[in-house]
Amino acid sequence: MHAVVRRAGALICAEVPDPAPGQGQVLLRTLACGICGSDLHAHVHMERRARTHAKAGRPVVTDPARDMIFGHEFCGQVLDYGPGAERRFEPGARVVALPYATGPNGRETVGFSNRFPGGYGELICVDAGMLMPVPDHVSDHQAAMVEPFAVGAHAVAEATLDADSVAMVIGCGPVGLAVVASLKARGFGPIVAVDYSPGRRAIAERLGADVTIDPGQQSPHSQWGPLGVHLSLLEREAARELGQRVRKPVVFECVGVPGVLQGIIQGVAPGAQIVVAGVCMEEDRFEPSMAINKQLQMRFVAAYTPAEFAAILADIAEGRIDVTPAISGVVGRSGVAGAFDALSKPDSDIKIIIESGRA
Ligand SMILES: [Zn+2]
Repeated sequence: MHAVVRRAGALICAEVPDPAPGQGQVLLRTLACGICGSDLHAHVHMERRARTHAKAGRPVVTDPARDMIFGHEFCGQVLDYGPGAERRFEPGARVVALPYATGPNGRETVGFSNRFPGGYGELICVDAGMLMPVPDHVSDHQAAMVEPFAVGAHAVAEATLDADSVAMVIGCGPVGLAVVASLKARGFGPIVAVDYSPGRRAIAERLGADVTIDPGQQSPHSQWGPLGVHLSLLEREAARELGQRVRKPVVFECVGVPGVLQGIIQGVAPGAQIVVAGVCMEEDRFEPSMAINKQLQMRFVAAYTPAEFAAILADIAEGRIDVTPAISGVVGRSGVAGAFDALSKPDSDIKIIIESGRA
């Protein structure tokens, strides 16, 4: 098959052997696949990524020196099944899938595996149980957005939110925008979206942000008071005793760059919850005593559950979430290396989709 292959640290278009569906797996023809920030991170930091996994005690199943075909945000068409696979969908059916496949070393993430090529190639194998059908009126491009938006759904599900919450989303890249969309779809707010880029702030507004802030112009944390969040724990306690409404600040960190977490800890209102969804690949520093003084709560989140994945597919299909403002470009496989360059620049595209049928 044709594929964009990460080989010897470069992205090249190459002809590689077709993958064959193993036990319990399904073979898909790729229709569309999103380029993820994690792909960019992995491309640049492949060795570091492997070391981090090893340190965390996870089995290291990838070899940075071997070929890898990225792509875990895909919409595909069922072609064939492997032995023992449950044949829930006819060949030709359009599907999305949680990007997991089970190999001899256990479950691997499709698109971050030497064994299981992702959607940057023409063919994908995943565990058949991971499939979800795509309704006819949902386009291939929209369907490819289910996976990245499910990341936002998970971050929102893992946060402690209720009708009194004030949500601030720091960083309006794909993760931050997905968080904004899920907050809106679940009825939480007000939603404050923070990004240096006017283009990204505008998209955040289209996805449901009530307030947008350019941190180059003003500190987002100057907004806590105006948003009705008490600025001291004592004040908050007093208000609670008087039976007054107590606004609860929740900050979603969706940047993943060293120093951002400390900036939030320093600026955020006391008693806040910080949900960390931005993937910082480098070591970072923060002052725990400051977090202690403010009695902050910190929560790190990753990926999604099958239920969250299905819920986002339904949100998109039923019109509660419009993912199209977040799709900023479409390329064929020959355009992927250029798309990586474009996406690595600040104030860049949000999500570039690889259309498998294009040159
Ligand atoms: Zn991703």
